[in-house]
Amino acid sequence: MKFVLKKYIPFWLGRKIRGSYQKINGFLYTGNSCFCPFCNKSFRKFLPGGIDLPVLYEKQIVGAGYRLNDVCPRCYSLDRDRLVYIFLKEKTTVFTSPIKLFHVAPEGCIRALLSSRHNITYVPGVKYLEGYYYSRQTNLLDITNIPYSDNAFDVIICNHVLEHIPDDLLAIKELYRILKPGGWAILQVPISKVLQTTFEDDTQITKQDRERAFGQFDHVRIYGQDYKARLESAGFVVKPFNPGKENIQGKYRNYAINPDEDLFVAYK
Ligand SMILES: [Zn+2]
Repeated sequence: MKFVLKKYIPFWLGRKIRGSYQKINGFLYTGNSCFCPFCNKSFRKFLPGGIDLPVLYEKQIVGAGYRLNDVCPRCYSLDRDRLVYIFLKEKTTVFTSPIKLFHVAPEGCIRALLSSRHNITYVPGVKYLEGYYYSRQTNLLDITNIPYSDNAFDVIICNHVLEHIPDDLLAIKELYRILKPGGWAILQVPISKVLQTTFEDDTQITKQDRERAFGQFDHVRIYGQDYKARLESAGFVVKPFNPGKENIQGKYRNYAINPDEDLFVAYK
């Protein structure tokens, strides 16, 4: 039903309907317990979010699974998006320096934050539009064969994408290729706290198989603690960012991020 609606309602109309709904919803949740830096509003709580499947708990996957205080009622930012915001604010000059930025499968809240800034040349890309909520201005492309030249971008944001791609190592190499030396990429994925080695099984073909094995119908693996090494194998230097380990967690307590979540930032 959701897919049918997205297919037949034009993007601009869908955005208007959703915008009105979000305004009302944001108003209903007004309060002082939580703060969303994307819509710059405070709420009494965030909404629950995430998928509720046994494998996500069994494998202790960070960045997936059902959680109570997750989704901003106004702009739909997630806990993991708010973690990205903290990194951008604390560790980068993305809000002030001239930057060319490639954003893959753009999250709406991050796109809204970055695409309108005068200092940023913003390039969005995604493989599929149908069935997903992306604007028609998003470039259609395949990140295992990116149509941009070497060393083209200062910054890449590519979150919760690699777990969908059969040849993720090729995608990682491509992201490395188009990043400028000195540039950095945020490459979040759902990641297991207990698996040392990434779990892949290409016999899991159907949607039901993949849900059961990987925790989402269109995922092809569960990353383990070797994810950092996978990124490093393409040449990246990886420095995970975690506000708790940086002793700045208190400053951002009302962002309701997951204290267990490291942000994987890969430098070239
Ligand atoms: Zn928000």
